Amino acid sequence: MICILKPGVTKDKQEQLIKWLKSQNLGVHISEGETHCVLGLIGDTSKVDGDLLESLEIVEAVRRVSEPYKTCSRQFHPDKSVIDVSGVRVGEGLTVIAGPCSVESEEQIITVAKEIKKAGADILRGGAFKPRTSPYSFQGLKGEGLKLLSLAKKETGLPIVTELMDIDHIDLFDDVDIIQIGARNMQNYELLKELGHVDKPILLKRGLANTIEELLMSAEYIMAGGNERVILCERGIRTFERATRNTLDLSIIPVLREKTHLPIIIDPSHATGKANLVPPMALAAVAAGTDGVMVEVHNDPLHALCDGAQSLKPEQFADLARRMMIIREVVS
Ligand code: PEP
Ligand code: MN
Repeated sequence: MICILKPGVTKDKQEQLIKWLKSQNLGVHISEGETHCVLGLIGDTSKVDGDLLESLEIVEAVRRVSEPYKTCSRQFHPDKSVIDVSGVRVGEGLTVIAGPCSVESEEQIITVAKEIKKAGADILRGGAFKPRTSPYSFQGLKGEGLKLLSLAKKETGLPIVTELMDIDHIDLFDDVDIIQIGARNMQNYELLKELGHVDKPILLKRGLANTIEELLMSAEYIMAGGNERVILCERGIRTFERATRNTLDLSIIPVLREKTHLPIIIDPSHATGKANLVPPMALAAVAAGTDGVMVEVHNDPLHALCDGAQSLKPEQFADLARRMMIIREVVS
C-alpha cells in the first residue's frame, strides 16, 4: 500500500503519521520527492482502512498495491484450485450442475434427477430453504426437501447442492455435498464466518449489487476460518436493464481467472430469468472459459412453484448439455 502525502507537510506531522502506522505493525518506507513525500507501507496491509488513511488532513491519496484479500488471491496460490465434490472435480474440465429451483415433491425431484443424469450432468441442484422476495411465496419444503434430495442422490448417485440460509439448520445438511450461499446472503458475514468451520465445499453466489472485489472478500471470510473449498458463482447483477431479470456479467470469468485460483460457475438461469435466453448465455460462458454452469431444469415448468419462466425442460437441457460439450472441446 502506498500513501502519498500532500506537498508541504511539516516534518512533525509526517513523523506523527509514521509513528501511528508503525504502531499497526507496519514497516514504512519513506521516499522524498521534489514535491511529494510517498510512504510505502510494508507488511500485512489487508487490515489497514485505506479510506480512513485517505481522510487524514495531510494525506493526498492512498493506493493499494496488493489486493485486500489473500487466501483466495492467485498471487498467494498460482495454480488453479480443483475442489473435490464427492468424486466430481470442480475446476477441472466443465462441471454441469442442473435441477429445479425448488424441490417440490418426490416425483418431481426424482424425475428431474434421472433426466439430468442421463443428459450428462455432474451435480443435482434443488432448493429446500428458499429465499423469496415475498413472504407469501412458496418458502421451500425445508427439512422434507433435504430428505427428498438425499433420496434423489441415492437413486442417481449425483452429488447434491442446496442453499443454507441459517447456520442453525446445518445439522440437517449432513448428506449435502455442496452448501450454496445465495446472492442475498453473500454479505451475511456472521454466516460466512460460521462456514469457515464447516467441512464441506461452499458455492458462493455473487450478490445482486456487489463488485467482484466484494465477492472475493466474502470468499475470504470463509477461507480465513479454515474452509478453503469455495466455488464462486456469477448469477447476474442488477443494472438499469429490464429486458432480462439481471445482467449476466460474463467478463467476471477472465477477471476472476487473473485474481483468484478458485473455480468459477456461471448461472445463466437467475441471470436472464427467461428459458429461451439460458442456452445462448450458457454456451457463451463455456466459450469464455467457465469451470462450470448451473442451470435450472423442471419437468413441468408451467406448474413450477418457483422460477418456472427460466427453467428448461429436460429435453432442452439435454440439447444444451450436448452443445456445451462441443464448445468446451473447441475452446480447450
Ligand atoms: C437459487 O439458486 O436457487 C437462488 C435463489 O439463486 P440466487 O441466490 O442467485 O438468487
Ligand atoms: Mn431459482
